[in-house]
Amino acid sequence: MKDAKIVIETIQAVTHCEACGKDYPTVAHGKTCPHCGSGNTFLLTGNEIIIKQIEAVESE
Ligand SMILES: [Zn+2]
Repeated sequence: MKDAKIVIETIQAVTHCEACGKDYPTVAHGKTCPHCGSGNTFLLTGNEIIIKQIEAVESE
């Protein structure tokens, strides 16, 4: 019998606004800046999934 515990951390996507220089969560606001309403934005980080920790426990 094997038990495996996998901890997965999802990094929240962050978009940067060129117009006002602020960052905001992409998921909530998409490509339009919630601070100034500009569409002059680009994705900083997004949709990355990191497997933070893998614990494998073997029991007999
Ligand atoms: Zn902005």
